[in-house]
Amino acid sequence: MITLALSKGRIFEETLPLLKAAGIEVLEDPETSRKLILPTNRPDVRVVLVRATDVPTYVQYGGADLGVAGRDVLIEHGGAGLYQPLDLRIASCRMSVATRDDFDYAAAVKQGSRIRVATKYTEIARQHFADKGVHVDLIKLYGSMELAPLTGLADAIVDLVSTGSTLKANRLVEVERIMEISSRLVVNQAALKLKREALRQLIDAFASATPAV
Ligand code: ATP
Ligand code: MG
Repeated sequence: MITLALSKGRIFEETLPLLKAAGIEVLEDPETSRKLILPTNRPDVRVVLVRATDVPTYVQYGGADLGVAGRDVLIEHGGAGLYQPLDLRIASCRMSVATRDDFDYAAAVKQGSRIRVATKYTEIARQHFADKGVHVDLIKLYGSMELAPLTGLADAIVDLVSTGSTLKANRLVEVERIMEISSRLVVNQAALKLKREALRQLIDAFASATPAV
């Protein structure tokens, strides 16, 4: 049995065409089904639904043989025990710094002020500001980062941006792009040895279905 870990929403939706190219069809819709284990047309392949941030953990410890996770999630996890053979180029967005439109970020950086930054992505934020030599107080949040600068909880946030419409709706501006984000295929290293043939076939099919740069 091959177990693939996916998160509901954009990653599930954008992985479906890649699965299809590999001859795999998921037999239930996660939006209407309550099942957490979804069968496929292949009796030897199943999909498990987990939180986006839990995908690397499932694959690391063998709860799933492989999975699809964002670069953001993989950096925060650290990547231990994971083989990352493929950038699938799905769920694309960027990691950015945003502030209220009346906060002068450039001046704060130039003056060497201590900046309060709220984020779910503390590892990416820590690395980014350390590289820039900017002193920050990081405040860990689990959601709705946009609210932090509006309530005075923080001066800035580090968050994912795709169209920018959420920022705009909350009078926030993107002041710095940290990195491009897309989702990758991650594979359990032990499973890669034990189930070599089946996993190789899947990885190759995914690779063929992934658009070139
Ligand atoms: P949860 O909804 O369980 O709290 P989440 O919000 O991180 O977790 P998703 O919103 O499904 O989960 O995001 C999954 C992945 O998709 C993220 O880790 C990121 O790589 C990518 N992603 C997030 N937001 C966007 C976006 N606006 N546009 C494109 N890709 C995104
Ligand atoms: Mg979400």
